[in-house]
Amino acid sequence: MGTSGRLGEGGATPTESPNAGKRPSPLRDGPPLAISIDLEDYFHVEALSGIVSRDAWPSYASRFEENTKRALDLLARYDTRATFFILGWAAERAPRLMREIADAGHEIGCHSYWHRRIWTITLEEFREDTRRAVNALEDATGEKPRGYRAPTFSIDHRSLWAIEILAEEGFRYDSSVFPVQHDLYGMPSAPRAPFRWRSESGLTLLEVPMPTFRAMGRVWAFGGGGYLRILPFSFNRWAIRRASKQENIPVVVYFHPWEIDPGQPHLPVGLRSRLRHYTNLAGMEARLASLLQENRFVTVRELIDGWVAKAPIPEHQVSNHLLAQEVCLCHVP
Ligand SMILES: [Zn+2]
Repeated sequence: MGTSGRLGEGGATPTESPNAGKRPSPLRDGPPLAISIDLEDYFHVEALSGIVSRDAWPSYASRFEENTKRALDLLARYDTRATFFILGWAAERAPRLMREIADAGHEIGCHSYWHRRIWTITLEEFREDTRRAVNALEDATGEKPRGYRAPTFSIDHRSLWAIEILAEEGFRYDSSVFPVQHDLYGMPSAPRAPFRWRSESGLTLLEVPMPTFRAMGRVWAFGGGGYLRILPFSFNRWAIRRASKQENIPVVVYFHPWEIDPGQPHLPVGLRSRLRHYTNLAGMEARLASLLQENRFVTVRELIDGWVAKAPIPEHQVSNHLLAQEVCLCHVP
């Protein structure tokens, strides 16, 4: 359980007083910090997709309900509301849990239905997948998700057509673009602070990029998933300050329920995937507790409301030109 995890460096134990009154208010004291959860099971992740087919999902022992409840307890301990980007597949299987998440005041977002990288499917498949997930979430919670996070951050120069579809389907924002170089994802030339996409037909969609900071002439990722779990906690703590206080960029940290589950079955994958998926599962909950104790997080929806109210945000055209030459997105607010 949560109290048994190894501590992050300099962190507090999860059972200590949350000390919420002393945490800075993000919307008043600087760029807001948001916390998000990509709600999926351990066998849904891209690192394991080579050995776990979608047809086989029902044959794996599901652990997302128990792990999500642990995440809900952790957030409640620190009086924090988060954005849950939820897989439609999971929402259909656990409608009571979905209601529990919504009833606790968390924001309901969409993480697709089948967890396919967007650039591997067609435009029609993407629309169908998104609608199915939205329906599952709305049926379970009564709330239509207004935010989207693509599986494996797969909105990049190969799938910008998805922006217009998300806008057409009624989404207000996307939080999928990772402005870094990575072997599985990334759009290095994308803006690093929130901006607004404008499609050729005039539709708009806010984008809240994943967390990065600039140092030594390049952009680095931090603050979620393997970056938060594997890299030193002190690095992540420093990076939050760097991006937030020095670069004035709102930060959205993220994690997955399976990342606080050291007891999950270990599947036989290659070395790289094994390192990415299984390193420091036992220490992740304590690291999250430290983050929650040291910072005041809001939902992504609240981050947008707070940020947009402060200053106009830049707008970027989704165009064929941009598809061909992503370098024209090279703008760091
Ligand atoms: Zn995911």
